[in-house]
Amino acid sequence: MKNIKAFKNPINVVKPILPDLTLVTKKLEEIWASGWLTNKGKQHEELEKRVTEYLKVVNTSLFCNGTLALQIACQALDLKGEVITTPFTFPATTHVLHWNNLTPVFCDIEENTYNIDPNKIETLITSKTTAIMPVHVFGNPCDVEKIQKIADKYNLKIIYDAAHAFGVEINGKPIGNFGDISMFSFHATKIFHTIEGGALTFGNNKLKNKIEQLKNFGLIDDVHVEGPGTNAKLNEVSAAVGILMFDSLEEEKKRRKALTNLYRKNLKNIPGIKVIPDLEKVKHNYYAMPILINKSKYGLNRNVLFEKLKKYNIFARRYFYPLCSQYPCYAKLPSAKNLFIAEQITEEILCLPLYGSLKKDEVEKICYIVKNITK
Ligand SMILES: *Cc1c(COP(=O)(O)O)cnc(C)c1O
Repeated sequence: MKNIKAFKNPINVVKPILPDLTLVTKKLEEIWASGWLTNKGKQHEELEKRVTEYLKVVNTSLFCNGTLALQIACQALDLKGEVITTPFTFPATTHVLHWNNLTPVFCDIEENTYNIDPNKIETLITSKTTAIMPVHVFGNPCDVEKIQKIADKYNLKIIYDAAHAFGVEINGKPIGNFGDISMFSFHATKIFHTIEGGALTFGNNKLKNKIEQLKNFGLIDDVHVEGPGTNAKLNEVSAAVGILMFDSLEEEKKRRKALTNLYRKNLKNIPGIKVIPDLEKVKHNYYAMPILINKSKYGLNRNVLFEKLKKYNIFARRYFYPLCSQYPCYAKLPSAKNLFIAEQITEEILCLPLYGSLKKDEVEKICYIVKNITK
């Protein structure tokens, strides 16, 4: 490939959204004046309300990160024994089960969405199974109806790892309303963030007190402790950043949608490159730009493309690679084998840069490089 220079500055897979600094300063002045830094202050209460409204859910509890939120979701539902989950996810999903003394049971994924394959869940159910923990990977919703039917049939709980799925809707129904509990991550790299943070959403009002206690040392009031809780509260500065994040959220999604469509158009006719199209009846949030690379049709394997892109200052990410079932700490589990689709996808997946301030000509250049790098 001739005449193509590397990008002058590194293009990373994602760029955290930064709220207007003068507005952040104003918020900080407000917080400083109040002298209230954490424990359900004014910013926290406002953010909780805003998130509940935006996600159109019944209950929201805010957390210092998504991982602890997910950990507490398992505690709140008293899960025991085995939990059926996906190997194609960020380590947090599986680790959370381990930290709760739960055994992860890996289920293979679907070819089109990379989400847990509901048709393969039932054969994994044993007398020890208490729950299913699917992930809405890259914000593409799982087959929530099929999963609910299985849960109902076997009396299982469902906790969705919706870390990627802020604002996604299925058939007009907001994503945080499916299953028993959903977890959203507000990490700096997510489409909505509080630098570090997260939330649980749930329909059952009875869970609210329990979850609030679990994230605050198990305290009921200043002298009564209900049980062994932990500390997973969201502080006021992070909450304030979250509130400001709403100002730019719709614009951010709009830009990402346009860039996603530009990627799709430019990558469409490259042999061996596959993209996920918009799904029917889904309102997407355009969180990520995953592509699959088929080595025999494209000419290079994913790892070689990944390395070559670095020479052009393009820093894509291999999400998710390796599979959680391939980490040494989980590889010996009986369910860690024969996950054929997941094992193929993890070798072919590559997430290309996607964020609102990425420029159209940068996307076009990235696509041009992907197209011609094999020559
Ligand atoms: C980001 C992420 C998490 C963890 O969230 P944190 O807020 O970083 O703790 C969990 N699951 C998935 C799929 C994620 O992408």
